[in-house]
Amino acid sequence: MTLRLRLSLAFLLVVIVPLTVAAVVVGRGVPHALDSAARNRVLASRAGAGALVQSTCRTVRLAAEVLGREAAVGSKDKAARDLVGRGVVGYAVVTGASGKVLASAGSLGGVGGVGAPVTPGALGSCSRGLPAAAGIRAIADSVDLRSAAGARLGTAAVAVALDRDFATSLARAANADVTLVSGGTVVASTLPSTAAAALAHEAGALVGAAGVRTVGDRLAAATSAGPGQPVVVVSVAKPGVGSLELLVVAVLIAVLLLAAVIGWGLARVTTRPLVALSEAAERVAGGDLDTRIQVTSDDEVGQLATSFNDMTDRLRGYVGALETSRDELRRNLARLGDTLSSTHDLGRILGVILETAVAETRSSAGAIYVVADGRDELVLRSGHGLDDARGARVGDTIGVGAGVTGAVAASGEAVRGHIGAPGLVAAPSEPRGEELISVPLRTTGGVLGVLNLYDRVDGRPYDDGDLETIRTFASQAAVALDNVLLHQEAQRLSVTDGLTGLRNYRFFQQAIAREAERAVRFGRSLGLLMLDLDHFKNVNDTYGHQVGDAALIEIADRVRAEVREVDLVARYGGEEFVVVLPETDRAGAEHIAARVCERVRGRPLHAAGVEVELTVSIGVAVLPDDGTTPSALVRAADEALYAAKAAGRDRWA
Ligand code: GH3
Ligand code: MG
Ligand code: MG
Repeated sequence: MTLRLRLSLAFLLVVIVPLTVAAVVVGRGVPHALDSAARNRVLASRAGAGALVQSTCRTVRLAAEVLGREAAVGSKDKAARDLVGRGVVGYAVVTGASGKVLASAGSLGGVGGVGAPVTPGALGSCSRGLPAAAGIRAIADSVDLRSAAGARLGTAAVAVALDRDFATSLARAANADVTLVSGGTVVASTLPSTAAAALAHEAGALVGAAGVRTVGDRLAAATSAGPGQPVVVVSVAKPGVGSLELLVVAVLIAVLLLAAVIGWGLARVTTRPLVALSEAAERVAGGDLDTRIQVTSDDEVGQLATSFNDMTDRLRGYVGALETSRDELRRNLARLGDTLSSTHDLGRILGVILETAVAETRSSAGAIYVVADGRDELVLRSGHGLDDARGARVGDTIGVGAGVTGAVAASGEAVRGHIGAPGLVAAPSEPRGEELISVPLRTTGGVLGVLNLYDRVDGRPYDDGDLETIRTFASQAAVALDNVLLHQEAQRLSVTDGLTGLRNYRFFQQAIAREAERAVRFGRSLGLLMLDLDHFKNVNDTYGHQVGDAALIEIADRVRAEVREVDLVARYGGEEFVVVLPETDRAGAEHIAARVCERVRGRPLHAAGVEVELTVSIGVAVLPDDGTTPSALVRAADEALYAAKAAGRDRWA
């Protein structure tokens, strides 16, 4: 169920409850109010009708008295005619003392007009409660007719007919329908005969009742001038509520429909910004971080929209920073990967390791120290940002255990913090700075070196995150460094003689070819000595091969000691050696050959605890005099050596 639908239903519910209550109140209350109003009206009508009947009764009595007086002194006929003629009553009659009718005037509808006049006795008396004879429908009264002396002369009576006119005037006075009932039958009525008959049927009960009774579809009450007198029944139609109920239901339905429409409209207006927000959030979730929501109000929804826009702005910032950082990392990794996989150049690999570490931690300076051959010293092999202020250069050394770098190399544990703090006191030869990270470059074989980083560019101290990053990176870098060092060692071993540590035959071949070509191209001389120990077989035979090997090592040292740094001494094979002398002419070569012979001969060799006396024969050849190719030169030196041997050994030729 959507929010819009829920809001609409909630609104409808809010409207339904009071509306239903109102409908119930109207549906129940209004008929009741109408009913009691009608009852009150009936009671008031009865009072009005009763008063009129009483007043008619009094009028009839007064008229009877007037008739009595006038008939006593004047013409009885005239008195009766005058009274009726004035319209005060409908009928007047005068009788003698014997009861004989002496005069009469007017009529009582169908009763009095035709045939014998109605006698006062038949008319009854409303004031004295004497009932009229059956069939007489009138309000009547009578008085005695007396002489001046007081003798009774007869009776004078008058009557007002209870006809339709009387009923109509009563109805007008009572403001209700009036039905006149006498002797249980309807005398006159303003109602249709069926309704009037029903009321006449109940007339007895109605007269006795104090309140209003329901007869059929009418509310009725009755009054009478007295016992035996005609009964006046006033009635009104019961108030009809059938149409009211229909109206209430119709209004209820109409208002509910209206409420549903208004509720739906309100819900639409209320949820529109939320729908926009939800759509925008969906777009952001889909990656469109440029999504913005229009802020159209400063209410809660407006604040939500503002917060949403702030959130996407910040998100965009974060994503941008992340992408930059990712790109940088990618570049660094690519460069690192390329270098690590493609080079065995120690200088280059150290440079890449250092640059990557510096970039990763945004440091302003850095240095890599590598453990030197002797393993008791570290050499600064690669530097970044090492200016004069830092006071350190590539090539600087520090003892293992000394300063911060030496301590890290000795312990194999990384450190971080302010330089000068306890445990972080730098040696004078180390780079100067404020903050430092120092991590060992360590493999299973031990510590190969130390990577130091100094002072972040933004001035913040390094944190544990930096240390962890560099520690992880250093473990990878150490593997690469180890590979390069191993490769270098393997290369060195491939051109080194295992016994004497001199260059081997293979290296000599390459070196003589290179040097010969260089000498020829630049027109320089190149000397070559070929040495063969004299009677060396005897040493082996006399002292054994171990002593022979030791003697070869000692000879190698002595020969190396006699030549320059740039000269190459190599083991040619067995107990034969060669010496390549760049930029050396014949005189120089012969001089060196003589010095070597002397040096070997000079004092006995101390080989494996045995003193051995040895001599050497040397063949000397010089480029370009003895040949311009390596093979020609070697052949010439070989021939000269043969000559020296032939000439008696322990000499050069
Ligand atoms: P000369 O050269 O004076 O003619 O006599 P020589 O006895 O030295 O003879 P030659 O040069 O032919 O001898 C080679 C001997 O050197 C053979 C072998 O006993 C010895 N030799 C060669 N290489 C080695 C080595 O690596 N170790 C030892 N202990 N002896 C070696
Ligand atoms: Mg030999
Ligand atoms: Mg020999």
